Amino acid sequence: MKIILLGPPGSGKGTQAKRLEARHGLVQVSTGEILREAVASESLLGKTIKNTMAAGNLISDDLVLEVLERRLAEPDCKDGVVFDGFPRTIAQAEALNDIFSEAERAVDAVIMLEVDDVVLISRIEQRAKEAVDGKVRSDDRVEVLKNRLSAYYEWTAPIIPFYEARGLLWRVDGMREVHQVTDAIETIVSQI
Ligand code: ADP
Repeated sequence: MKIILLGPPGSGKGTQAKRLEARHGLVQVSTGEILREAVASESLLGKTIKNTMAAGNLISDDLVLEVLERRLAEPDCKDGVVFDGFPRTIAQAEALNDIFSEAERAVDAVIMLEVDDVVLISRIEQRAKEAVDGKVRSDDRVEVLKNRLSAYYEWTAPIIPFYEARGLLWRVDGMREVHQVTDAIETIVSQI
């Protein structure tokens, strides 16, 4: 089973991806986490993308697809994957389709977590306040969030009609309690 969690920054994709991982034995593939690890390790890739990430802008499709393909080639991904933060552009969505053959569908469901902008901004402000040891993710600041939101609307939102046209899109109200969102996702998963 392969599921994509789609939604703006702060919509709860990471939290719900972890729950899907625990309940269904899927592997969470978060390009954001992989890229943050690259930055932390100060690898060549990390140095190349550090400033772009800190500014809340998207990393180029070529680089993201390279790390994604490497991750998908690892054996644990064979049992199923929940994508979190990928794809983020139409080109990435098309590339994902190309990675898998017709017989092995690239995606079984795309679950869209819908959350209003005002709610997103207050969630990020909260996340920054609650940061452990005063360690705030360098892109978790309100100014940067605005940039991440505009990148989302410009590049990622067009993916919604892309998957809708393929009959794969499911919408979930992401403004309810975390467990209610989980229940709504579970209902979807039981139908696919
Ligand atoms: P969030 O979902 O909270 O916005 P992520 O952890 O998914 O954050 O991503 C953090 C940053 O990593 C993004 O702002 C972007 O710079 C980079 N990134 C992650 N995934 C992708 C992707 N698929 N394509 C381009 N850039 C990405």
